[in-house]
Amino acid sequence: MKYPKEINAYCPFCKRHEQHKVRLASKGKARSLSVGNRKHERKLMGHGGKRAGEKSVKKQGKRQKLVLECPSCKKKQERVVGTRTKKKIEFNA
Ligand SMILES: [Zn+2]
Repeated sequence: MKYPKEINAYCPFCKRHEQHKVRLASKGKARSLSVGNRKHERKLMGHGGKRAGEKSVKKQGKRQKLVLECPSCKKKQERVVGTRTKKKIEFNA
């Protein structure tokens, strides 16, 4: 899937449309001691049965997230684009 490098999008901080820079959002490293992660680890303990967080159906592709950066206030917004895609988004030159 191809996507433009810059798009004219609304900035809720400036309250007007600006030419935003677009890049792909990357998932940060999971903190192993966070509350949610500890809770999940606890759920995975025990003897078999249904295990929380394990997928039974594999989805075809992923939904991709973009980060839009406003040039005037430098704030960033996230945007999920389109439907599930198998390929990574390519940016037009
Ligand atoms: Zn802005």
